Amino acid sequence: MRTLAKNARIITGESPELQQPLSCLAIRDNIIEYRGRLEDAAIIDFLRHDDVKQVDLGGRNILPAFVDGHVHLLHFGISLSKIDLGDCGSLDDIRQAIQMAAAGRPDAKRLLFHRWKQSAIPGKATSSMLEGLDPRPIYIDAHDLHSAWCNGAALDELNLPSTNPPGGIIHRDEHGAPTGLLEEGAVVSLVWPFLADLMSRAEKLDRIREAVAIYNRAGYTTVIDMAVTQDYWELLHELHVAGELKLRVAAHFLVLPTGDAETERAQVEHASKLHQSYNLSTSPELRVAGIKIICDGVVDACTAAVSKPYQTTGETVQPFWTPETLQRVLAVADGSGLQCALHAIGDEAVTLAVDGLESLCTTGRRHRIEHLELTKPEDARRLGRLGITASVQPVHCDPEQNTLWPPLIGKDLYTRAFAYREFLDAGANLAIGTDAPTAPHQPWNNLFNATTRRTYQRPHDKETCNEHFKLDLVEALAASSMGSAYSCFAENMVGSLAAGKRADFIVLDGVGDWRHDPASLLTCRVVGTWLDGRPVWSELG
Ligand SMILES: [Zn+2]
Repeated sequence: MRTLAKNARIITGESPELQQPLSCLAIRDNIIEYRGRLEDAAIIDFLRHDDVKQVDLGGRNILPAFVDGHVHLLHFGISLSKIDLGDCGSLDDIRQAIQMAAAGRPDAKRLLFHRWKQSAIPGKATSSMLEGLDPRPIYIDAHDLHSAWCNGAALDELNLPSTNPPGGIIHRDEHGAPTGLLEEGAVVSLVWPFLADLMSRAEKLDRIREAVAIYNRAGYTTVIDMAVTQDYWELLHELHVAGELKLRVAAHFLVLPTGDAETERAQVEHASKLHQSYNLSTSPELRVAGIKIICDGVVDACTAAVSKPYQTTGETVQPFWTPETLQRVLAVADGSGLQCALHAIGDEAVTLAVDGLESLCTTGRRHRIEHLELTKPEDARRLGRLGITASVQPVHCDPEQNTLWPPLIGKDLYTRAFAYREFLDAGANLAIGTDAPTAPHQPWNNLFNATTRRTYQRPHDKETCNEHFKLDLVEALAASSMGSAYSCFAENMVGSLAAGKRADFIVLDGVGDWRHDPASLLTCRVVGTWLDGRPVWSELG
C-alpha cells in the first residue's frame, strides 16, 4: 500500500530550523520512503504507481509523533475514573469536594480521589482530617502518586502490617496505630495491589484501552512505561495480541528492595527472561526494555534523599538502597542486557544512581535516571560522560507546583532544581516524558514549561523556576520525540520524519508562533495521529 501525505508543512524534528520547505511524505506500507516536495523527481516517480492513495493535509503543520519518555499507562487509565482534587487549595476545599463527590455517587463502594497537593493541608495528612465526611472507605492519591491518604474505613479494610514494608512508611501514632498516611513503598506494595485486586481483568483492560485512545488523540504513538508488574504486562500482552494496542510500549519492570539479595535477583531475572522473548528485534511494538528502581521519594513528602536536612523536620533522608545493594542489582540487570531506569529526585539519590551506573563496565546500554530534580553540578557533568539518559518531566518544574520547595529544602538548594540546561550542555541525551498520571499527559504543557520555566496553568504569569536552565524550543521538541526514542533504542524507527523510519506523525491545527508566543503551544490542537502509515485518530474527513 502506498500513501502520499501532501500539502503539509513539515517540522521534521531533526534540524535546528523548526520548519523546512517540505510538503510531502511518500509512505510505503508503514515506512516513510521519501520526504520532499511535490515537484521532486522521487515524488513524481512515486505517483506513477497506480495504488497511491493521496491524502491532502490542507496546508497544516505536521510533526513527528511524540514519544512519552516516562508514563504509567495503567495508572493513567485508572486515574481517569478518580475524582480530581487538583484544584483544592485547602483542607476545607478538599472536604467540600469529597462531600460533593460522595453525594453524587450513592452506589459506589469506595471513593477514590487523586491529584491532592500536599501543600493544601497543614502538616502531614491524617485520617482524622477526613472524619465525618462519609462512612465508606476514602482513598486519596497525592498528585505525585508517592503518598496515599486514607480515612478510617480505608485503613480498616487495608488491614496494614505492624511493620513498614521495604522502602515504605506507614505513619503511626504513639501507640503504633496507622494515622492515615502511607508513603512510597507502602503505596506501591500495599494500597495499589489492594485496590487493583478489587478491579476485574475486564475493567483493567478497558482502562488501558481508554488510556491508549487518549494518548493517540494527544499525539503519541510510542511510550516508555515505567514500573510495570507481571499482571499489568499480561494485560498489555493480551491487547497487543488482539491488535488493540495502538501504541508501541517499551516496558521497564519494577524491582523493589526486599533486603534479600536472592529475591531482588529473582525480580531482575524475571524481567530478563521476558526481555529475551520481547525485545526490539523480536517484538518492537511491545517489549521489555529494562527494569525500574526507585532510589528515593519526592521533595513534597520529605522523602527525597537531599544532601541537607529538611528545614521543617531537621531530618536527613537516606536513599532506599545502599550503594552495595543497588550495584548488585544493577550488575545483574546490565549483565542480562536490560536497561536500568533509576528514579532519583534528591541530589544524594542522584549521586547514588550515577555512582551505581558508573560501576558497570558495559558501555552503550543507555541506562537512565528518572526525574533528576535536584542535582550537583558534578553529577550533571557525569551524565554526559557516562552516556546516561536524563529522563525529565518539565511539568514538574512548574513554579506553581513547587511552592513547598524553598521552605523545605532552602532557597539555595532550590537554585539547583531541574537543571535541564546543564544535562544537555554536558552531552547527555535528554528524554522528555509526562509521568502521567502524576502530571497532565499532554505534550504541550511539557514544551511550554521546558522552554519558559513558567506555569502552563497561567501562561502569562511571569514567575519562573530557575529560568537559566530552560531549553530552546527545538531542543525541547527533539527531547519529546527523538530524545525519548533514542533513550529506548528506537531512534531508527521513530522520533523524526526521515526516510526509512515508521510513518508516525501528527497533524496540527492552530499552530502559532511558538518561539515568540510560547502560550500558543498550549492552544494548538492535534487533529490527526498516524501510526505506521495509518491514522489511529483523526478529526479530518
Ligand atoms: Zn513515574
